[in-house]
Amino acid sequence: MHAYTLTNLIMTEPDGTPQLSDDPDTNFTEQTAAIHTVEVGRGWQGFLTDEGAADIHQTNGKVTCVDEGTPDGTVRNAGSGLYYVAIFLDSKGENLPEKEVLNKAIDTIVEELKPEVKTGKVNCITSHEGCGAAGLVWNLLSGEFKEQMGWRNPTDLAVWFSKQVAEKLNVKYEHIGLTGRPEHLHIALATLVDFTAEGMSPDKISGTPPKMFVVSGRLNQARCIRQIVLTAKIATGGHGYGKDGGNRITEAEPFRVVVAAKAGTDNNAFLQNLRGGLAEFGKRVKIVECYL
Ligand SMILES: [Zn+2]
Repeated sequence: MHAYTLTNLIMTEPDGTPQLSDDPDTNFTEQTAAIHTVEVGRGWQGFLTDEGAADIHQTNGKVTCVDEGTPDGTVRNAGSGLYYVAIFLDSKGENLPEKEVLNKAIDTIVEELKPEVKTGKVNCITSHEGCGAAGLVWNLLSGEFKEQMGWRNPTDLAVWFSKQVAEKLNVKYEHIGLTGRPEHLHIALATLVDFTAEGMSPDKISGTPPKMFVVSGRLNQARCIRQIVLTAKIATGGHGYGKDGGNRITEAEPFRVVVAAKAGTDNNAFLQNLRGGLAEFGKRVKIVECYL
């Protein structure tokens, strides 16, 4: 039996589809309740493995963003690799022209995805509407360069980037909408780090599961940690629960980073580096280890 429904809090459209509120307080109440249901019930391990999670695996072959608004991907990576541009731009000693940094990011994600394409797990690279990773990279690039590339907005950049990656991997490309959250607010109060190599989509769990960012842990681990830190920044920041100067995520109600790996996986080095990466949040971010 599952008790993930919160019908008293979720408004519905006349046709019965849930209406997505963009009020941070309403969403915080809902997401907190959904997380408590998991944690006082069977715990995260139970949530990810019980009968309600039978269809959690996402095998559609798509590479999608870590965004909780783009839940349908086998591999989840911030901006489908575009966030690597931000990582490379702020790496010390890196002083390449912008186009070369973009090319380096493309080559890096292409190399990381090659084994996934080879084994048939990945067959499509996506970009999406309202991508925060694209917005962040957009702000790091000069106006002159963007004009030269013919990009008018972050979506143009995201489309260009994912098309390049798809072309180099010889797989499909698709631009997708934002379905899992309101347009102008991130509502996830947790990040799932998927180390299982099978693709996990908590949105597929029956009932009203907590919304979660998902980061694939099986690509480069240092860059995976940077993406997890990004999700915590988004959640605590002005596009998330820091909206309107709010400070909703606290030690008492922290942001959860749920690291899910197969039983027997040696995650110690990763977890140690992850703790270091998240140290800036203090007790506002809590790491939960799960072995499935
Ligand atoms: Zn995105």
